[in-house]
Amino acid sequence: MKDAATTTPKTLSAADAHRLDELYAKFTSETDHLIGYPCNTDFDYSPLVRFFRFSLNNVGDPYLSGNFNLNSHEFEREVLATFIKLTQGDPDGAWGYCTNGGTEGNMYGLFLARELHPEGLVYYSEDTHYSVGKILRCLHLRNIMIKSRPDGAIDLDDLRETIRIHRDAPPIVFANIGTTMKGACDDVGGIFKIFDGLAIKRRYVHVDAALSGMILPFVDDPQPWNFAAGADSVSISGHKMIGAPMPCGVALAKKANVDRIARSVEYVASLDTTLSGSRNGLAPLILWYAFKTVGAEGFRRRIDSCFEVADYAMERLAAVGRNPWRNKNSITVVFDRPPHAIVRRWQLAVEGGIAHLIAMPHVTRERIDRFIADLERSKAEDDS
Ligand SMILES: *Cc1c(COP(=O)(O)O)cnc(C)c1O
Repeated sequence: MKDAATTTPKTLSAADAHRLDELYAKFTSETDHLIGYPCNTDFDYSPLVRFFRFSLNNVGDPYLSGNFNLNSHEFEREVLATFIKLTQGDPDGAWGYCTNGGTEGNMYGLFLARELHPEGLVYYSEDTHYSVGKILRCLHLRNIMIKSRPDGAIDLDDLRETIRIHRDAPPIVFANIGTTMKGACDDVGGIFKIFDGLAIKRRYVHVDAALSGMILPFVDDPQPWNFAAGADSVSISGHKMIGAPMPCGVALAKKANVDRIARSVEYVASLDTTLSGSRNGLAPLILWYAFKTVGAEGFRRRIDSCFEVADYAMERLAAVGRNPWRNKNSITVVFDRPPHAIVRRWQLAVEGGIAHLIAMPHVTRERIDRFIADLERSKAEDDS
């Protein structure tokens, strides 16, 4: 029999415990200044802490049972059903799984597209998330970057012209619904009009809706963006608008497409339909808990107040001469890039001459006021 002392970890030394306390204090303070990145910090999952004692693992397809039983597949399927509803997917014809974040969902969508159209050509705008270039290299996919308009959306004239020149290759369009820097939505309806205008039948559209996939279902006049608009697959982050203590997300796709590639690997392993093997079993519980406690009405109210704070931030930024603007149905407020110290302290995302703040649920008017005051102080210091 094993000696308990060798299997039970010892407690931390005082010095190491102190380091953790310091880290905790740092996170507490940094969280208080976060306005530039789209991770909602307004959540409380403490009722789920007791699940920390299990070695949870959602390995495999969430819709199939394997031999490993310490999984939350049942809850994962409920979470997926909710996301399928929010993206207007066919309840019986859509499939998905919980990912490690938006990037994995994007890789999954492009993987599926490549398996269906091995000779396909990927089109994506220059405002696309930086991780997509890497995904395209990993998947060895031929690709062409398309110009963006000043507002951040894909330039449909450039897209049409480029697809027209390459009519021999099935187009795979990587569409942004809420670009990272400017919160712009590519015109998904316009993309399908291009296909139809050129009589292109073999085509694929993946939608990257990392943040806006949890905004557009709750606004009155959403741009066409989801399965109802013709998307073949959609990726949404879980730790952005919903908020989670660890990165997570969902990959959603048409079941018929997934079945076609699942079959081809069936005799190698079982149905190895997910990119990751071992998968996070806590993340689906967190997303499930968020949907159950916040609910659709709660998300609608949450999104409404995000827009109110975004408009308030625009007002304040305009008053101090920072030229703010935002895209329709976006809570990302773009403005003239402030001095470096401000960018660091408020964790602002910057690109060239612009910066943005994102009016996530934890960003209150009071926090905007503190940010503006700091901005004005730095200007005064610069001028003196
Ligand atoms: C954040 C983001 C991603 C990456 O998602 P992760 O969840 O960080 O992996 C991809 N695309 C867009 C538009 C994003 O904003």
